Amino acid sequence: MESRIDRIKKQLHSASYKLTPQREATVAVLLEHEEDHLSAEDVFLLVKEKAPDIGLATVYRTLELLTELKVVDKINFGDGVSRYDLRQEGATHFHHHLVCVECGAVDEIQEDLLVDVEKVVEKRWNFKIKDHRLTFHGICWRCHDKENNEA
Ligand SMILES: [Zn+2]
Ligand SMILES: [Zn+2]
Ligand SMILES: [Zn+2]
Repeated sequence: MESRIDRIKKQLHSASYKLTPQREATVAVLLEHEEDHLSAEDVFLLVKEKAPDIGLATVYRTLELLTELKVVDKINFGDGVSRYDLRQEGATHFHHHLVCVECGAVDEIQEDLLVDVEKVVEKRWNFKIKDHRLTFHGICWRCHDKENNEA
């Protein structure tokens, strides 16, 4: 069976890029940390464990390239740090995020849920939606549980 990394390799090839060992190490880190929202610096430190010679600039360029190819999405949760998030395969729109204001946890909603909203926007504003970013700020279930247990 074709693995995700093979498919990403094909994507790079069809855009006339090669999956160099350094790029491959970067993609591998992103796949291993699929649930996380890593900054360029975070990715760099993890890639360095696999490819000690790699520089931050190379990692940064690779991340920008992967963003252009829509393998990853760039997101900022309001702390001024760009984070790189793997796009779910086959997803036309970016997934949503739940950011906990108490503990800082970031959870993901993979289901779009916006189909009706998108219809209204497209019709009322005659606007063709290509993508969106939706971040909810609130209190996560873990913090809820903790509060309930303490009460
Ligand atoms: Zn995410
Ligand atoms: Zn959508
Ligand atoms: Zn929380």
